[in-house]
Amino acid sequence: MTRNTTVDVALIGAGIMSATLATLLRMLDRRLRVVIFERLDHAAAESSDAWNNAGTGHAGYCELNYTPERDDGSVDCSKALDIAAQFALSLELWRALVERGDLPAARTFVRTVPHLSFVQGASDVAFLRARHAGLVRSPLFAALEWSEDPAQLAEWMPLVMEGRERGVPVAATRMAAGTDVDFGALTRGMIAALAKHDDVEVRLSHEVVDVARDGDAWRIAVRDLAGKREHAVRARFLFIGAGGYTLSLLEQTGIPEAKGYGAFPVSGQWLRCTSPAVIARHHAKVYGRAAVGAPPMSVPHLDARFIEGKHELLFGPYAGITTRFLKEGSPLDLLRSIGIDNILPVVAAGVGNLDLTRYLVGQALLSHDERVELLRRYCPTATPDDWQLLVAGLRVQIIKSDGRGGGELKFGTEVVTSADGSVAALLGASPGASTAAAIMLEVIERCFPGRWPAPARPWLRPS
Ligand SMILES: Cc1cc2nc3c(=O)[nH]c(=O)nc-3n(C[C@H](O)[C@H](O)[C@H](O)COP(=O)(O)OP(=O)(O)OC[C@H]3O[C@@H](n4cnc5c(N)ncnc54)[C@H](O)[C@@H]3O)c2cc1C
Repeated sequence: MTRNTTVDVALIGAGIMSATLATLLRMLDRRLRVVIFERLDHAAAESSDAWNNAGTGHAGYCELNYTPERDDGSVDCSKALDIAAQFALSLELWRALVERGDLPAARTFVRTVPHLSFVQGASDVAFLRARHAGLVRSPLFAALEWSEDPAQLAEWMPLVMEGRERGVPVAATRMAAGTDVDFGALTRGMIAALAKHDDVEVRLSHEVVDVARDGDAWRIAVRDLAGKREHAVRARFLFIGAGGYTLSLLEQTGIPEAKGYGAFPVSGQWLRCTSPAVIARHHAKVYGRAAVGAPPMSVPHLDARFIEGKHELLFGPYAGITTRFLKEGSPLDLLRSIGIDNILPVVAAGVGNLDLTRYLVGQALLSHDERVELLRRYCPTATPDDWQLLVAGLRVQIIKSDGRGGGELKFGTEVVTSADGSVAALLGASPGASTAAAIMLEVIERCFPGRWPAPARPWLRPS
């Protein structure tokens, strides 16, 4: 592929979203000429890297924020059911790629790790009971177990029960078939498989610096960070999967659909266990309820992880304040993102979310001992010497204009597409990587309507 050619598809960012979209499009049409630009010198080094996210194969089994309590005490299970169905699609895609030889053995990126929700206190126990009763009606959740018996809970999660004060009611649900996913290894596997084809080019250390309309295509200006040279490529379809930098690139397209969005970054940190003896005793992901004011994705959890094949134990994420939009971003990112089109919604969202701001400031100021104190709610016997602090990835939440000068902070993901379907972008952060297949199938449906006879599950087509 020469530098001035027009390609069919250009993707900005080599994270899980671009990798998934490129893979699905190439399943639909082997002749598509594709180029992926990545500013870092290797793929999946931002949010998609295993150390930067929690690796939970989100299927709604344990995340209590997906099942909000209604005013009458009943539980709304619809989001958990949707996410379970979406994760099933991702699993189907990955299985098909392993069978085709386009991904290494599944064990290198996905492991079975039971998913538990753990609560304490009578009202949270009542909530969890109602949640369990609501979910088990669906065949996707039929295997969800429930227990209030401390002996059973100690068997499921010894570290969580050991040293715990007696007398406070506790309960948990457990899905034995939960998963831990090394999204970094998965993404790098997908990118490597794509790069084997002559019609696909992956350009690492190449930063997209400008996007503009150019007739029936998009002109993408790219800086080669190794040689410090700039060149341009034309693309008929452009996907912006640049994580925290997506919004600024989307704004450069000038499409009306990009107007009125703002962005708000939340940084993350983990405690990583350094004691092999402690790590060896925990074999589950244990999620709890979020603290007051906490953003829904900051629900703490004590996770057995498999990163680069090694058993790890992480607790968190602790949230924090940052002005960067990527880990490898600039401290000026937040300031640069505010302009005439979004200043009102950004200010309104700030004023309307003071609880969140207070929570983030509080988290940012925690000392190591205070962090360990929070960890002890999940692991009462934890000692500060066995845990070290790690910086996780950051999530850039969307602020969306309400059209009346106000703005709302959103915690989900949002696909933005142009009316002509020539550009698509993914904003927001949650539930994220687990639902990549469903989100990218939505992009295909919206941007290529009618182009392929059955795009719903392209992996079922003969390769
Ligand atoms: C703390 C935390 C915990 C999480 N936990 C989970 C979880 O348990 N389960 C789950 O499913 N999801 C989780 N997520 C969400 C998940 O990590 C993300 O949804 C997913 O990784 C996003 O992938 P992406 O491809 O959109 O972005 P990224 O992986 O961030 O990739 C974007 C890429 O674009 C590149 N880029 C940016 N600008 C440019 C440019 N101008 N030119 C070229 N390249 C550019 C970046 O360098 C980066 O490599 C978590 C996220 C965080 C932060």
